[in-house]
Amino acid sequence: MDSIVALAKRRGFIFQSSEIYGGLNGFFDYGPLGSELKKNIRDCWWNDMVRRRDDIVGIETSIIMHPKVWEASGHVAGFSDPLVDCKVSKQRYRADQLFFAPVVVTGADGVAQTAGYVSALESENTAGELQAAAESFKRKKALQGTLAPVVVKDFTEATPEQIALIPSPATGNPGDLTPPRAFNMMFQTNVGAMTDASSVAYLRPETAQGMFVDFKNVVDTGRVKLPFGIAQIGKSFRNEITPRNFIFRSREFEQMEMEYFIHEDADWSQCHQEWIEWCRQWLISVGLPESKLTLYAHKKEKLAFYSKGTTDIMFEYPFGVQELWGIAARGNYDLGQHATASGKPQEIFDEATKKKFVPHVIEPAVGVDRILLAVLCAGYAEEDVTDDKGNVEKRTVLRLSPRIAPVKVAVLPLLKNKEQLVGRARDLYKKLQRRYAVFYDDGGNIGKRYRRQDEIGTPWCVTIDFDTIEKPGDTFTLRERDSMAQRRITEAELFALLEERVY
Ligand code: ATP
Repeated sequence: MDSIVALAKRRGFIFQSSEIYGGLNGFFDYGPLGSELKKNIRDCWWNDMVRRRDDIVGIETSIIMHPKVWEASGHVAGFSDPLVDCKVSKQRYRADQLFFAPVVVTGADGVAQTAGYVSALESENTAGELQAAAESFKRKKALQGTLAPVVVKDFTEATPEQIALIPSPATGNPGDLTPPRAFNMMFQTNVGAMTDASSVAYLRPETAQGMFVDFKNVVDTGRVKLPFGIAQIGKSFRNEITPRNFIFRSREFEQMEMEYFIHEDADWSQCHQEWIEWCRQWLISVGLPESKLTLYAHKKEKLAFYSKGTTDIMFEYPFGVQELWGIAARGNYDLGQHATASGKPQEIFDEATKKKFVPHVIEPAVGVDRILLAVLCAGYAEEDVTDDKGNVEKRTVLRLSPRIAPVKVAVLPLLKNKEQLVGRARDLYKKLQRRYAVFYDDGGNIGKRYRRQDEIGTPWCVTIDFDTIEKPGDTFTLRERDSMAQRRITEAELFALLEERVY
């Protein structure tokens, strides 16, 4: 992770927000290459999800909506995470990311007793850390007997008696932690000049409600027929208690969400499965290896009462397997809630049965930033390569799919002081620039220039060399990032290659 964060900063992908003022926890900026990469991810999603399908339309709704939207959706009452304070250090934790275990020791008399508690924050190896902490606890207290393997629980499951005995991760002392309390994650603001209760509004914590609230507008104007979807890409804001893992969990992030409306009698389970597979295939199409993607179906008892099922596509990040894309079957809860709260029916007329009904919905919801982090993690590699003279050197390479790579082609004149080479290179560069993000580089030896492009994930370099200008055919050297293989290619072939691979 450290190498990826360092590369992201060094090559202008991602910066800390307001860095010159010390940064602001949970907020990030995208630099010249990062903003291109992010735009490409968004564009691929939009093209595949909206433009290349006949059953989905796109919208763009406002970030601040009527506060009643968030009352009806349940966010005002329930969009919260369980927060735990350490009274002494003033640290704050999410209770479901704070783990504890009783230290159970069996004495010579065969009686198992709880001698105390240990705690640890969520990590790749929480159980291992707790086991080590339990062993150290037993040593320090000079307890005789056999230590039982730890049974890990999260802090939301702790009883008041246990809370009094669980040590704070910050101070190591029992009794410093408060019981969990609900912390609403919506950012509040005020609309207009008054700052009283009547002007309170929220920055949206998800884009989905825009699709529900505009459902009727789209139905009445969009010539859509069930089943159909409404998609949107936009910023969302959550006052996360513990933003972490770089851009994985931040307080301002971007979502790509789609609400797929189906008939109330339709086979929602089949539709849900189809969307899970569509999303998985889409992630593969932008370069994520299938081997790092797994599915996690939420347990029935943990689902909201209206939810029929939720499956997350998980990605194997360097810090653990984590949620990337959630695909939820939400019944007709959201439209139903807005119908009741607004007094405006959110129904569709069924020609077959001559009855009105509220459609059900399947919702694939993903974060752009999480995809971007996943492609950086999956694509990053450091490898030893041997040059023509037999020297071994390190190369850092970012294996990004041509679909999303920030620069598609680098145009390199072999020498910068040879007018004919430069002229041909400039001419090609200008032509490519009309369609693609390209980079012109005439500085340094050609090997170094290739390495610079490898590091930012440019799939192809074309070198304009003496064969280009002296031999017939007007060909360039095409060098591929992944194989480092070189071959000669004409301008027409280069455009054909790009046409096929960048879509
Ligand atoms: P988590 O359990 O990780 O907090 P969630 O289940 O609350 O996520 P959803 O409400 O389903 O997330 O949001 C849909 C998608 O939005 C997530 O799958 C994720 O890709 C993205 N997302 C959610 N919260 C954040 C965040 N704080 N930072 C970046 N992306 C996020």
